[in-house]
Amino acid sequence: MESSGKNLIIVGAGISGLVCGVYAQRSGWDTIILEKALNPGGVSTSWVRKGYTFEGGIHWLIGAKEGVPLHDIWTESGALQANNPISFRDPIYTIIDGDRKAELHRDLKTLSKIDRRDRLALALLRFHVWCFTFFHSPVQDIAGVKARHPRGFSLMEFIKMGPAVILTPWLMAFSAGTYCRRFRDPLVRNLLETVVDPRINALSLIYTLSSFTSGDSGYPKGGSLVMARNMADTFTSLGGEIRYRTTVLEVVREGERYVGVRTSEGLLRADAIVISADARTAIDKLFAEPLQDGWARRMRRKMETAQCMFVAIGVKADLSSRPRCARLMLREPLHAGGLVFDAITVNNYSGYEGYAPEGCTPVTAILPGACYDYWKAAKENGNYYDLKKEVIAAFVRVVSEFYPETAGKVEVTDMATPMTYQRYCDTFEGSYMSDWRPWRFASTAPLRYKPGLYFTGQRTAFSGGLPVAAETGRRTAQHLCKDYDIEFVSH
Ligand SMILES: Cc1cc2nc3c(=O)[nH]c(=O)nc-3n(C[C@H](O)[C@H](O)[C@H](O)COP(=O)(O)OP(=O)(O)OC[C@H]3O[C@@H](n4cnc5c(N)ncnc54)[C@H](O)[C@@H]3O)c2cc1C
Repeated sequence: MESSGKNLIIVGAGISGLVCGVYAQRSGWDTIILEKALNPGGVSTSWVRKGYTFEGGIHWLIGAKEGVPLHDIWTESGALQANNPISFRDPIYTIIDGDRKAELHRDLKTLSKIDRRDRLALALLRFHVWCFTFFHSPVQDIAGVKARHPRGFSLMEFIKMGPAVILTPWLMAFSAGTYCRRFRDPLVRNLLETVVDPRINALSLIYTLSSFTSGDSGYPKGGSLVMARNMADTFTSLGGEIRYRTTVLEVVREGERYVGVRTSEGLLRADAIVISADARTAIDKLFAEPLQDGWARRMRRKMETAQCMFVAIGVKADLSSRPRCARLMLREPLHAGGLVFDAITVNNYSGYEGYAPEGCTPVTAILPGACYDYWKAAKENGNYYDLKKEVIAAFVRVVSEFYPETAGKVEVTDMATPMTYQRYCDTFEGSYMSDWRPWRFASTAPLRYKPGLYFTGQRTAFSGGLPVAAETGRRTAQHLCKDYDIEFVSH
């Protein structure tokens, strides 16, 4: 693509920054991405310890199905290529509670075998999920952009989404946990609570389940790091540049216009700047004065963060006969980060090619909940590492209780807390994704802020996760093209 002669700086090589960068570069912008970490992907990342790959990002990728609008963004941005085909696990989840065990399959049928008292609740669940089968994150052109390959929203698509649109306000009004409580059998209830954090709204639960039943959610081979590297390679192959270990300290304004960014190496000028780093952090840290626009003040006041601890162990044991993803109902609660867990969801990566030496298995768990203050205090008090060791030891005990073949076979351990996400990616309160509670509308950052300055990523739209990163990355690139009268080229 011929250069438009316009320079763009993107702050952050997370998924939204990479999507935006690929589209902008392809459309003729000369783009530099500045990334404080060593790798692309932001919080969507995986890493290797002593031969074990720990998947610390993608657990499911929505937009995995060909023909779905989001899938096009994943292919156009280079995220999905021949080297990372998608696999679709089934059962999606298994629950183990003492002697009882149940599985959640993509067709949801097995649930009916569990408890006949839940027939009505199950019929409703299947109906709600069906309504969302035709609902896809809309990907369309913004008004007024010159797109080489225009992308609209057909009347038929709109009609198909009708049932989901009608249900949406209702499902947003209460939590996923409340929805699950319609089921009388605790086994089914707990199984469904595995799908999303029960505190977020029921819409997220139904949307996620429907993405499983429709085959739109899967896991790309090689996980987060392969996907992010694919995107970074696509971006650089188009002529873009990524500078790692480069922290943006300030976005610089001259008069009414934003003109560049300051790093430790000095001022870097550009025609436009995109902030893909966490906007909630950015409004306080990346400007000469904290931003005081209405949306920024609302964001400070209302935004809740989704925090978690991520625990990972590598065991010298073959767990291929164990469930891929199991909710383990604990006899003794597990204490971690000032929180108490009656159950944990354990991911078993046996059979994932190249993730561990022969006969060995990476095992991980996300422990969600507000624990930033706890870990921050631990850092300040100097007992951070001791407390982490206690959590890891408790996790090892749980895994060996449920899977005795792992006892005494742990070769490597690792753990991330909100302090880790804050240190590596500067997410606000070390959050790992955005949070969407019932009837909460925390303010989002505008994609197009002031002359020369744009936002993208997880704080710029509901609901969160990778779909939002992808869709807002594309939309921000369209705003850039529209404002500078450049044709938007998607592929
Ligand atoms: C354990 C875990 C599991 C998850 N599972 C899923 C899942 O299964 N499905 C799903 O859809 N989503 C999942 N998510 C959420 C998803 O990964 C995120 O919502 C998404 O990656 C956010 O992308 P982003 O580009 O908006 O932000 P980020 O990933 O935060 O990217 C921002 C980038 O900006 C960089 N940066 C920040 N400040 C600066 C600065 N001053 N200078 C330079 N660079 C800077 C950061 O280092 C980072 O690379 C998960 C996340 C985690 C942590």
